[in-house]
Amino acid sequence: MGERAYNFGAGPAMMPDAVIERVAREWQDFRGEGYSAMELGHRSEHFADILARAKADLRALLDVPESHHILFLHGGATPHFAMVPLNLAQPGESADYIHTGYWSDKAMAEASALVNVRIAASAADSEFDRVPDRAGWQLDPAAAYVHICSNETIGGVEYDGDPDTGNVPLVADMSSNILSRPIDVARYGLIYAGAQKNIGPAGLAIVIVRDDLLERVRAGVPSVMKYARHVEWDSMYNTPAAFAIWVAGLVFEHVRKAGGVTEMARISVEKAQKIYAAIDASSLYINRIQPASRSRMNVPFFLREPRLEQRFLDGARRRGLLNLKGHRATGGMRASLYNAMPLAGAQALADYMTEFERKNG
Ligand code: PMP
Repeated sequence: MGERAYNFGAGPAMMPDAVIERVAREWQDFRGEGYSAMELGHRSEHFADILARAKADLRALLDVPESHHILFLHGGATPHFAMVPLNLAQPGESADYIHTGYWSDKAMAEASALVNVRIAASAADSEFDRVPDRAGWQLDPAAAYVHICSNETIGGVEYDGDPDTGNVPLVADMSSNILSRPIDVARYGLIYAGAQKNIGPAGLAIVIVRDDLLERVRAGVPSVMKYARHVEWDSMYNTPAAFAIWVAGLVFEHVRKAGGVTEMARISVEKAQKIYAAIDASSLYINRIQPASRSRMNVPFFLREPRLEQRFLDGARRRGLLNLKGHRATGGMRASLYNAMPLAGAQALADYMTEFERKNG
């Protein structure tokens, strides 16, 4: 392997070195079986053990209560924009959405053909610079569920905790901050997350769903889109993404050994503070998110002089600081600081930002 770069990409994102090394070791000869990890059969004893351990480790990491099932599904996070309304609401019912930016918007747009989408709170008026204050949410007690995106990957806006929605099930897209802090899973009816940021290879999704909600599925939903069907088949209704689940399990094991989500939370704050401090001390970089809603996972920033952007990216690349270009929807820069990004990576970026401003500001 060449020198290890700091990959600030928003996903597929940086993976822990220890996991990459382990995959490399077993890539060609999985557990001494004489076949590749890619050839791992889902009916093998190895896979039964891998799936059981992955579930147990995730349950332990997030302290998932017995009332909730854990699923490993195909297709990333996007299918759940539709599967949530199909499984939790009857046609014509209403669901509350909290509108915080690009990804909550996508979820709402997809759901709007399937359920009556009600915007219970929105930060659109302030250009999505915050999570709307919980006190101002206009929740409907009769809603089928309340949907949030716990971290807006593009906007760089993050909830600072688990909102209380009373008896209405809370549904969260946690794609870009799952496993980055302790959560009170009991508050959630359903959590979904694409794996490619804090968990493992793209294409896999994690779902955590409360048992009593499974029976709400509406008539006519295809089997592969029914959470109940996947629970019944223990995530093996169709051939599971065996390789990706194995890698996700290695990540869970790694995070447990590294101190669990409490430790991930501590380091994430330290990493993010380094970048926000570099931005706040500067007259070149701008981040316009309200401090209380700033994401620990994705730090979007702009250069006051856009003509310097390419020079900034080129210089970063020469130092092994990769994939800092912002999302095409927003432009600018974005530093993603998921669990696998070491503190030294955040420090190297902060140092580079300061030095670049001194030379070019
Ligand atoms: N939700 C969030 C918050 C995301 O960041 C992403 C992907 N970046 C998605 C959903 C979509 O995930 P996928 O591409 O796995 O469907």
